[in-house]
Amino acid sequence: MEMSRREFGTVLGGAALSGMAHGAAAATGVATLVRGGYVMTMDPGRGDLAGTDVLVRDGRIAEISAGLAAPAGAEVVEAAGMVVLPGFVDAHTHGSISQMRGLYGNTAEAAFFPTTNRLSAHYAPEDTYTGMLLSGVESAASGITTSADFFDLVRNRDHAEAGLNALRDAPIRARLLYGMRSKTAADMIDLDHVEEWQRGWTGHAADGRLSLGLAWRLPQALDDAAAWAIKMREWEAARRLRLPLQVHVSGTVPGRAEAMFDALIARRLLHPDLQVIHATDARPNQLAALEEAGAGLVMTPLSEHRVGYGLTRLDRFAGVSRLGFGIDGSGLAGFTDMFALMRLAALTMAGATRDEKAVRPRQLLELATIGGARALGLDAELGSLVPGRWADLQVVRLDALNLAGFDGGDPCSLLVYSARPEDVALVMVGGRVVKRDGHLVGVDMTALLDRARRSIRSVRARAG
Ligand SMILES: [Zn+2]
Repeated sequence: MEMSRREFGTVLGGAALSGMAHGAAAATGVATLVRGGYVMTMDPGRGDLAGTDVLVRDGRIAEISAGLAAPAGAEVVEAAGMVVLPGFVDAHTHGSISQMRGLYGNTAEAAFFPTTNRLSAHYAPEDTYTGMLLSGVESAASGITTSADFFDLVRNRDHAEAGLNALRDAPIRARLLYGMRSKTAADMIDLDHVEEWQRGWTGHAADGRLSLGLAWRLPQALDDAAAWAIKMREWEAARRLRLPLQVHVSGTVPGRAEAMFDALIARRLLHPDLQVIHATDARPNQLAALEEAGAGLVMTPLSEHRVGYGLTRLDRFAGVSRLGFGIDGSGLAGFTDMFALMRLAALTMAGATRDEKAVRPRQLLELATIGGARALGLDAELGSLVPGRWADLQVVRLDALNLAGFDGGDPCSLLVYSARPEDVALVMVGGRVVKRDGHLVGVDMTALLDRARRSIRSVRARAG
């Protein structure tokens, strides 16, 4: 049963975030003209267009051209001297643990996995809601307009509803990947609930802003036949319900990630609706199998380096055509910051190869936009600025101290090596402005920060 917004607000003790409730629904009938910016379409056929206008109507991009007239009643966004580019696509995150950042002290006791497992066992639905909402708000602040949330802290249906409500209230487009908080190898995702949601999804989808998938995991012990039987029921349900799914292929124990990837290949589980996450040290033949199956791959440099999954080297994945970036949760990444992620990936590549020329700045921006959309199978709808696609875009100002000295031309290097979330002046999701003049629209920041503090305080108190 779905909890109504009113009931949920009461559970939360009265949300002061109601202004966001419909913050990013498709803006039907509304036109916006983003005028005179340096437009990076990220579309191979269109490229960059200096001094160009983007007309947005009914939530989608209507026209991209110089000298467009503003329709009557349209909002005009002056973007001269600014860069207009697609919103970033965060192809893999864990929103529900956002408020745990700052707790991981890199010791045996305070390492990521034991800390997260210990505390998340004491999550109440409102903590799930708070984490996922916080993640969505951080995302919008950083220019991210689409996020795939690997929601693996589902303890019961109340948590699932809390997560769905959070993404509905968050100012971004999102894919909720329904998983579970496994306690034993016999636990299985609540497939009945997933199927119920899928059947009635148009009622949940917030005008097409939300989609559904599965947060799938491989068995902890890869030789556990009983665990495999459960995992295969989940995998088959995703196929039957036509739901995309994601799976982690990672580990700090030598050989673990390699064995996981081999299991996916041997059991023929790779397919175009599946995204492999991490696979930092994948062998060339494993990546060739992924490519042949048409599956996607998501790199998460901030978290991969944080927990020691190895170096995120872009050259390893040169043969993967559906390749994108993911934040992997601000709990671990520190902050939902795609600029920091791009910079780290660029620096790692040059450092690891001892060659400044081993990476091009535009490559990072492609991975952060159209690449992530391709990995998720959403590139026909978003990830590039093309008429007919969702108007999911960001406008970056270039007049901040950290950007000083730039005098026009290709801004790729500036965006990758110098820009930061604060430079994102405007963010639009489905034609709706969710960040304007550098400020999030309809977000009571004091209330949100207070909610995050109260959440982690009560979780820690319950954990003892
Ligand atoms: Zn992850």
